[in-house]
Amino acid sequence: MQIDLRSDTVTKPTNGMIEAMMTAKLGDDVYAEDPSVNALEARVATMFGKPKALFFPSGTMANQTAIKLHTQPGEQLVCDAYSHVYNYEGGGVSFNSGVSCKLVDGHRGMMTAAQVEAAINPPDFYHSPLTSLVSLENTTNKGGGACWDYQEILKIKSVCDSHKLGLHLDGARLWNALISKSETPQQYGDVFDTISVCFSKGLGAPVGSVLVGNENLMNKALRIRKMLGGGMRQVGLLAAAASYALDHQYDRLKEDHQKAKEIAEVLNQLEAVSSVEPVETNIVIFKLSSNNSQDLFLNNLKSHNVLLSDMGGGKLRMVTHLDYTDAMHTNLLEILSKA
Ligand SMILES: *Cc1c(COP(=O)(O)O)cnc(C)c1O
Repeated sequence: MQIDLRSDTVTKPTNGMIEAMMTAKLGDDVYAEDPSVNALEARVATMFGKPKALFFPSGTMANQTAIKLHTQPGEQLVCDAYSHVYNYEGGGVSFNSGVSCKLVDGHRGMMTAAQVEAAINPPDFYHSPLTSLVSLENTTNKGGGACWDYQEILKIKSVCDSHKLGLHLDGARLWNALISKSETPQQYGDVFDTISVCFSKGLGAPVGSVLVGNENLMNKALRIRKMLGGGMRQVGLLAAAASYALDHQYDRLKEDHQKAKEIAEVLNQLEAVSSVEPVETNIVIFKLSSNNSQDLFLNNLKSHNVLLSDMGGGKLRMVTHLDYTDAMHTNLLEILSKA
């Protein structure tokens, strides 16, 4: 049995999801005539208390569109040095929007309002790029699935307001944060100008993200999505999978969180492991001790067909998900405890 913990994106559609996809009502979404897409967009917009939502083929395209909405070429956005938009979107920030990133060294991917304020270039100092956007990420991917303190987000919002900056949330795993912290989508809709969310991570859909925002921004986003090649036709097949995920595969995220905590507890007791980052959601990031127990540990996992990812800098990552079953979990804890 293979135990694939590289990412929560490795899940396959469940039978119920496939059934929902196969029976979805379809139309041409470039003409805004796909009932399944329209229903999903309306539903997600309402969840966040935003007037409008748009379906995207990827979280990357949704983030890239948001950045383009809030900036002009030559300008700068402020983000944590761990940000997905900076590290893992192929340099799209500079390619698509012609902007640079002012990187802030936050804690596990999260900046303080004071750090954000200090990173803003004075607008009348024309030698430096004009700061126009602040981008946050919740949960933080490279930060090990850490969740923001909502009060700090409110403080960042007021910094953005006083400097007239846009505020975007990369919420690829916001669902995990909402469950972990008992927060609501509305709380996030109240603060951010744009929010992207993914259905292809913990929720288990094969493809799909949604960007929410106000009417004006989303009308512009429609054109940008078209330019990026993200206008799709009978894409209700995928929207139906996302709707199914919200109905049937949302509450279970807490099971992923529980399993991740249990993995961390076992890792913490191993001689081969030097440190484990605190687990708040479904991501476990840990480091191995720099002695020869390291090879033993990795060979043990390999021989049992356990896959994990190397985050660089000596950090390893395991992510729990829908297809990581109870049986696999029991098995893994046993494999680990013999490491
Ligand atoms: C996965 C992810 C995205 C989007 O990735 P896609 O693979 O393009 O859907 C964006 N931000 C974060 C933090 C992610 O983990």
